[in-house]
Amino acid sequence: MEPAQIELIGVTKRYAGGAAAVDDVSLKIPAGTYCCLLGPSGCGKSTTLRMIAGHETITEGDIRLGTTVVTDLPPAARGTAMMFQSYALFPHLDTTDNVAFSLKMKGMDKAARRARAMEMLKLVHMEHLAERRPAQLSGGQQQRVALARALITDPQVLLLDEPLSALDPFLKIKVRQELKRLQLQLGISFIHVTHSQEEAMALADLVVVMNGGRIEQAATPREVFNRPETAFVARFMGDHNVLKGRVTQAGDDAIRFELPDGLSFTAPASGAEVGQPIEIAVRNDRVRIGREPVTGCSLTGLVQNIEYHGQKVQVALSAPGVDEFALQLPETDFFSAPLHVGDAVPLTWAPEDVHVLKPSATA
Ligand code: ADP
Repeated sequence: MEPAQIELIGVTKRYAGGAAAVDDVSLKIPAGTYCCLLGPSGCGKSTTLRMIAGHETITEGDIRLGTTVVTDLPPAARGTAMMFQSYALFPHLDTTDNVAFSLKMKGMDKAARRARAMEMLKLVHMEHLAERRPAQLSGGQQQRVALARALITDPQVLLLDEPLSALDPFLKIKVRQELKRLQLQLGISFIHVTHSQEEAMALADLVVVMNGGRIEQAATPREVFNRPETAFVARFMGDHNVLKGRVTQAGDDAIRFELPDGLSFTAPASGAEVGQPIEIAVRNDRVRIGREPVTGCSLTGLVQNIEYHGQKVQVALSAPGVDEFALQLPETDFFSAPLHVGDAVPLTWAPEDVHVLKPSATA
């Protein structure tokens, strides 16, 4: 089948007696995109995926695949295929028959469907284990069988619900690379649900960050990381400091704002009004230890915790009115002048590294 764009138009899901699990979500996923739905547990990722798959009814709105509105179509008639977290393989069938199952349902004869299943097994490098049963396969191997089984229906979109969550860290990275290779090779869209920002950044062309049933931001990984739109995105993606205060002076292209405990900062912003709340983000690795503070872009932090991350060392600090503040130093820089818990450290950052955030959609 030809790759097709998928579009969600004002999609809402309300479960009986509950608030909206997915709240008026609109999203376009161009054909051939690796899309990750990213967010904390309960934000509506799986519900969104299941509505795209047709395993969940839609309360309001529409889903379109290419030019077809698929909102009320059964799963098998949509051009989508789903790979479940549990893999859901039939224990009594061998690998080949597991993969060929949907073709059997369609009435294809045994020789033809087993031949097609073998092609799919080659695609996922599992042809040598074609005769094993699921219990004789490792977790990673079972997952590849599940992938082959989903792909045999020749879908326009493959839907994956937390596909890597059951794998150990090494296998996770290996399977991640295989998923990306498959997606590029097939040229169809993959929509992959995850709560791992690392996974989403490694895989996705389009990261959709969800919170409370809504989309906080949908953009490339680099855009989401470097220009998070909201404090939620900045915190969820990690490696950002968020400062939250009120505007005290508003100029044409810069403002001054104050934290509750009186620390004062500057930010590049226009159109702000004195008294309005404001949030800014600064990347952890853009914060420098400096004796010469940059006006409006500095504070003194008290070292609370030091974590060695290999190439980097992460230093958590406290300051009055600041929720969390951290600094990331290259390993060699840190060890040339090590810090210790309890040290008071003068910190500065460049005005161009200050990024002004918007209020959250769910605020
Ligand atoms: P996520 O995949 O991001 O963890 P879900 O889509 O599973 O989130 O859930 C979103 C919200 O909908 C949660 O509050 C969850 O409790 C609720 N929910 C999910 N499935 C059901 C269901 N079958 N019945 C009632 N509420 C549900």
